Amino acid sequence: MASLSPSWPEWLPLRTSLRPLTPYGAPQIPDVIRLNTNENPFEVPASVLAEMQKNLEKILPTLNRYPDRDAVQLRSDLACYINSRSKTAFTLDNIWAANGSNEILQTLMLACGEKGVLGFLPSYSVHPLIAQVTGTEFFNAARDEDFSVDVSQAIAVINERRPSMVFITTPNNPTGTSMPLGDIEQLAQAGAGVGALLVVDEAYAEFSSEASAVTLLGAYQNIVVVRTMSKAFAFAGARVGYLVARPEVIDAALITRLPYHLSSPTQALAIAALACAPALLAEVDFLIGERERVARELATLGLKPVPSSANFLIFSGFSMAPSELWAELKDRGVLIRDIGIPGYLRVSIGTAAENDAFLDAVNKSGASQRSS
Ligand SMILES: *Cc1c(COP(=O)(O)O)cnc(C)c1O
Repeated sequence: MASLSPSWPEWLPLRTSLRPLTPYGAPQIPDVIRLNTNENPFEVPASVLAEMQKNLEKILPTLNRYPDRDAVQLRSDLACYINSRSKTAFTLDNIWAANGSNEILQTLMLACGEKGVLGFLPSYSVHPLIAQVTGTEFFNAARDEDFSVDVSQAIAVINERRPSMVFITTPNNPTGTSMPLGDIEQLAQAGAGVGALLVVDEAYAEFSSEASAVTLLGAYQNIVVVRTMSKAFAFAGARVGYLVARPEVIDAALITRLPYHLSSPTQALAIAALACAPALLAEVDFLIGERERVARELATLGLKPVPSSANFLIFSGFSMAPSELWAELKDRGVLIRDIGIPGYLRVSIGTAAENDAFLDAVNKSGASQRSS
């Protein structure tokens, strides 16, 4: 997100609030092992491809028509998926789908961001970025040294700032740490006290053993859970995210969405992917195992991985600057992420071979020898 102040030309009437910004984006470099954007490393299995092709073939001749504006089947299928995992009883009225959860977040901020949003940094850098581009004030309530959120302090900040939305990311990106369900309940209560929605970004839920906040929706009407098919479903290229909430929240989102925003091919592909959920989710357990292995081996190299509930982890314990180790690993053909936390770098969990290449590159970089 916003880095050095760029020099926008005078003739371009860019909004003043946007002039300090540069376009968002992690580097996309060819011919390296990409462990920098938390993608699922596995390609779509052949059985799933066949299902997708079948669904696509059905809708392609009807591309002259606008898509189903309300994505009825997709939302029903998403409700079934959530119900099967969390033993809930949602219907399509509790679900809304969009082009990635980033679009969900933007739609929510446009609809409900009037009194500002509160987040706990370091967290997903796109939250403050979307706040900025939608003219929504962003309040930061910092995390503790171990990246956890001090709940009583958080409640005090919520009462002081009285935002219209509070954002929690759990498991949190970039730290991989998760928030206990009991803490989420307390924040939901505090949010309700000041008329705020509690938006729980669960992009990595499938990699965590913690129960989903969707199980709290019956008790707390102000909880909004944001999910994505980008990570666990290995579906980042298709751009499908969704929201689980009370129907009133869905209706509010429908006010600020663009008409016909979710294309027919996207809906058809997502419906096919959900029909093949077991095949797509089969790799999640493997990635969890690899995450634990990478953490163990980093520790063996003398580095300090932070326990993670996601498909990535951050680590410290190297004496050189993060940017220096990042560049050295890139030169060795492994691209990870410098997430701007002093002393830390983040690595996404890849295939076994990719993880081995990462560990080998770390070993050869001298990071462990030079650690203090
Ligand atoms: C990756 C990620 C998303 C996903 O965004 P999509 O637009 O669905 O690809 C959302 N929230 C967090 C915290 C993430 O890390």
